[in-house]
Amino acid sequence: MTGKIAEKIPKSRAYLFLLAVLGIVMSVVTVAAVKAFGYLTDNMAKMGGDIWRLSLMTMGLFALQCILEYGYYAVQKKFTAHGVKSLTDAAAKRVALAEMMWINGAKGGDITGRVQSELPECAALLSETLPDAVLQLGRIILFAAVIFAVDIRLALIFIGTIVFVIAVQTVASKPMQSCFKNSQARRAEANSLAGEIIGQRETVKVYNAHSVVLGWYSRLLKPWFDATVRAELTSSPLRTLGWVMGVAPTFILCISGAYMVQNGLIDFAAFMSVYFLADTITNDCMHFVDIFIRYRRGKAAAERFFEILEAPLENQNKGSAKNDKAAAVVFENVTFSYDQGDVLKNLSFEIKKGEKVAFVGPSGCGKSTVLALVQGLYPCRAGRVTVEGRNTADTGCDELRENMALTPQSPFLFSDTLKNNVTLWKDGGDIKDIYEKSDVSSFLPDLESGENTLLGEGGVSLSGGQKQRVAVARTLYKKAGIVLLDEATSALDALSDKKIFETVSALPDATVIAVTHRLSNLESFDRIYVMDGGKIAEQGNHRELMDRKGLYFDLFHGREEGQTA
Ligand code: ADP
Repeated sequence: MTGKIAEKIPKSRAYLFLLAVLGIVMSVVTVAAVKAFGYLTDNMAKMGGDIWRLSLMTMGLFALQCILEYGYYAVQKKFTAHGVKSLTDAAAKRVALAEMMWINGAKGGDITGRVQSELPECAALLSETLPDAVLQLGRIILFAAVIFAVDIRLALIFIGTIVFVIAVQTVASKPMQSCFKNSQARRAEANSLAGEIIGQRETVKVYNAHSVVLGWYSRLLKPWFDATVRAELTSSPLRTLGWVMGVAPTFILCISGAYMVQNGLIDFAAFMSVYFLADTITNDCMHFVDIFIRYRRGKAAAERFFEILEAPLENQNKGSAKNDKAAAVVFENVTFSYDQGDVLKNLSFEIKKGEKVAFVGPSGCGKSTVLALVQGLYPCRAGRVTVEGRNTADTGCDELRENMALTPQSPFLFSDTLKNNVTLWKDGGDIKDIYEKSDVSSFLPDLESGENTLLGEGGVSLSGGQKQRVAVARTLYKKAGIVLLDEATSALDALSDKKIFETVSALPDATVIAVTHRLSNLESFDRIYVMDGGKIAEQGNHRELMDRKGLYFDLFHGREEGQTA
């Protein structure tokens, strides 16, 4: 897992190398300082004037150790911050390019929750837990080598005990990982709901749904609480065991050393030098428990976080040029389903370049799904969709959508200025004319700073109709060859609605595909597809369809009587 994390963090190998060098130097300095201190205390009485020189040198070694430890800690923290930034970038990029089906299934709140909570633990697994484990292990090996130089039997006893302790901790800490993962998943669920409650605050307030929603939230908090307690309880025995495990190598070393001294197998001075080292090692062994717990927690977080980094991507192929002579959009025997049940059934039609076409029909008959397939958001189950001569299944998503613009029914506005929401930070073109055509000009003078007014989160300071006008302006500003309108003017008054439809219908070269319930706007459209149950039930222009007195006719009159959905 740490290898996978390292691949996602640039310069991670350089950071790890630096930490390894600092760790080695630190360990050598620690051994030297401990040895010097041992020598000093053993020979204090017989040293005379040299005692000051040796004392200064020992103090210098301890001071150097402090400086190195500070450096090691600082590099670790910088590495963690760099890792968090790199992984956040990687996650944002992956989610932006991820397949729509995956995003629909993953839930926005869960994705942001994982990035906020699990990402720092995931980064620390590489930048802190791994170097700490290597450092502790390195120090133990170094100390073992020093003990080895004193007495090979004591070194073997010491190494054997350490291997046993690490093996026990590896096995004992394993169940913790799934407990931590479970706790993290429950926390993400609860946080996701909290996000929804805040996002849907108006609905919650107007329906006085606080107590119901909070009850729901409490029911999600309980499994989170239970899973967290279980995770902590699973790690508790290891913490308790950790103390015993930390002391065990030193204890066994001392007992063995004492036995060997008693039986004349080793002299007392040699035993004392080993004892000094063993005492220092106890700390390192105790640290291992903490490292194991951090490792299990970090691995669980990394597994969940990597589900984001490994999300299936949309088609990223490059180099499929559009064919200007081909039809704008062709559906050939397209069958499509989201998860269960076919939404589109063997659908075929062709929209030529520059045509103005509409899809109408009862709610849920598949109109917006047609637009989604034109954008290449989902793959067909059967048949194929061709846009400007390219099969959407084989075309890179950027190139496919380069010449496309969409106004959705509920447009999303960024917390930025009105102008940036229209241009999407791309300058160029006559924006004043766009404000006029999209009817943004009707409320622009009322805004405090005109086009530079900040719109607040999600455009909270604008009405639904104003938001739709900004979204229409965004669509017109792009000057795309294919314009998709999905109930784009549903929140507008009849006059603005008519004005915008007239503007869009008059776009000289653009192919316009509109989904709408406002059938009176469609008189000038080249063709109207009337959908029912995922199929085309009727097609023709407004006049032809009215004369036929079929479904379109019913929908038209139903709308006038206020009966359509
Ligand atoms: P329309 O635009 O005609 O109202 P849609 O194309 O939005 O209809 O939806 C067609 C059907 O597909 C509906 O039954 C709807 O519930 C379903 N549907 C739409 N979007 C999704 C989705 N993201 N996941 C699963 N089912 C969906």
